[in-house]
Amino acid sequence: MDVRRRSEEAVYSSKVFAADEKPLKPHKQQQEEDNTLLIDASDALPLPLYFTNGLFFTMFFSVMYFLLSRWREKIRNSTPLHVVTLSELGAIVSLIASVIYLLGFFGIGFVQTFVARGNNDSWDEEDENDEQFILEEDSRRGPCAAATTLGCAVPTPPAKHIAPIVPQQPAVSIAEKPAPLVTPAASEEDEEIIKSVVQGKIPSYSLESKLGDCKRAASIRKEVLQRITGKSLEGLPLDGFNYESILGQCCEMTIGYVQIPVGIAGPLLLNGREYSVPMATTEGCLVASTNRGCKAIYASGGATSILLRDGMTRAPCVRFGTAKRAAELKFFVEDPINFETLANVFNQSSRFARLQRIQCAIAGKNLHMRFVCSTGDAMGMNMVSKGVQNVLDYLQNEYTDMDVIGISANFCSDKKPAAVNWIEGRGKSVVCEAIITEEVVKKILKTEVAALVELNMLKNLTGSALAGALGGFNAHASNIVSAVYIATGQDPAQNIESSHCITMMEAVNDGKDLHISVTMPSIEVGTVGGGTQLASQSACLNLLGVKGANREAPGSNARLLATIVAGSVLAGELSLMSAISAGHLVNSHMKYNRSTKDVTKASS
Ligand code: ADP
Repeated sequence: MDVRRRSEEAVYSSKVFAADEKPLKPHKQQQEEDNTLLIDASDALPLPLYFTNGLFFTMFFSVMYFLLSRWREKIRNSTPLHVVTLSELGAIVSLIASVIYLLGFFGIGFVQTFVARGNNDSWDEEDENDEQFILEEDSRRGPCAAATTLGCAVPTPPAKHIAPIVPQQPAVSIAEKPAPLVTPAASEEDEEIIKSVVQGKIPSYSLESKLGDCKRAASIRKEVLQRITGKSLEGLPLDGFNYESILGQCCEMTIGYVQIPVGIAGPLLLNGREYSVPMATTEGCLVASTNRGCKAIYASGGATSILLRDGMTRAPCVRFGTAKRAAELKFFVEDPINFETLANVFNQSSRFARLQRIQCAIAGKNLHMRFVCSTGDAMGMNMVSKGVQNVLDYLQNEYTDMDVIGISANFCSDKKPAAVNWIEGRGKSVVCEAIITEEVVKKILKTEVAALVELNMLKNLTGSALAGALGGFNAHASNIVSAVYIATGQDPAQNIESSHCITMMEAVNDGKDLHISVTMPSIEVGTVGGGTQLASQSACLNLLGVKGANREAPGSNARLLATIVAGSVLAGELSLMSAISAGHLVNSHMKYNRSTKDVTKASS
């Protein structure tokens, strides 16, 4: 749809992506060129412009000459001027026509407006051609251009009269354009394949299936990309990764992998067991800070983590002819008598999927049904989707007038901030607590219990309330959630709802010690499926003792992982809040984030 709505600017922008075509121009220069284009576009007139102009000039002067000579004759013969013959009438009409044309032409704006309107009006007809052009360009250029087509990288066409913000790029003339980067291919055969992909004869996405060798496909695709864009990908490693293991599951169109350092925080003493928590991050100080929090928890006797709920959700939307019919289905679905039937249908999707409830919301004639189910050790999105499809098929037989709008319609709600997850929970809901002794607060955290309690009230509760936070009543839960998710192969995009957290602090034991808790209603984790089966992520899960499926008690690995996530967040909250209350935050960041090393040299 985005493609259809794009104007010619968008088509032009899509060209900008390729190195072998003109770069984005500065705005003023672009406008001048556009004006030229508009004048040229007057070729849309039935005859060439110079010919049309000549015709109207000749007509104007000859008609003028004719009329003047007729008037001179009338004056001589004393004939009244308003008595007009048929030939004079024709001449007057021709004169008016030529005057209108010539006035219009010399007021260039008139011609431009005319042509510009003509272009706009005819855009819809040309749209199909533009679309075809974009698609052809994309198939030739591979992944970057594909992103452009989807609208990911294309600036929206500017509104009329508002100057668009165009990224200022140095204008590079064709002569100055860098030569395409060419790295010798591993073999002559590979060189031939590279050339064919560059020329668009072999689609880049088909390399894996054509070659039957995923690493070779990635290597060829990487080289193709370098040649097309002229940009070096030298720092992006290719070796040392099993590309077969991600085929059809984790990533497509591979050209290498990104390296993220993994640090270790711990031991985290949680429910009487010790865990070393792997954290993948490039934020200096984060692991060190979480590690300090773990130390404080350990020294205070450990933390306790309790799982409150476990249910992944998916919410399709169905539509009826009337709101009354939508309401009828809502009552049917929510009636406990029908639940068993629906659960049987749902549970056939997997040995591990178990429907818990269906929560309905109506918007006019539309019914959104939020299915909640346990999914064993899987995070469960695929599993729950299959179950929902089973139920929709079943309901379709009973409600033939039901129109299924979409299997996922945002009442779920996946990877978006939404109150429904914050209030109802999604995935695993966990509360985790610890009592940190006065001594530990002073010696390890270098602050005071009262200072922490006050800061928590004013920052995590009051400040967040003023900010209109949705589940963001914490200091930095998402820092820890993201780092653990990346290390253990979770879906990092689910960090959005998984980081919902309210951190509470209270002085206990006559005000001497600190009670701290984190409550996290929607931690979405799994230990099977997705990225969890990849070698390095699997090693991190193994370190935590939650690798793969738990055969004795399916689901307990994923549930344990959720409690560890909450425990790690507790450690992170404790340490950062202490640093802020003690005024150490800036100093420690300067120490860990701004090392005295010459960063530019380090990166090269
Ligand atoms: P997700 O739903 O998280 O995307 P998938 O459904 O793709 O995950 O992967 C889960 C797969 O693992 C299913 O095929 C399921 O049958 C299998 N599986 C094996 N053991 C378990 C377990 N203990 N818990 C959940 N799924 C399991």
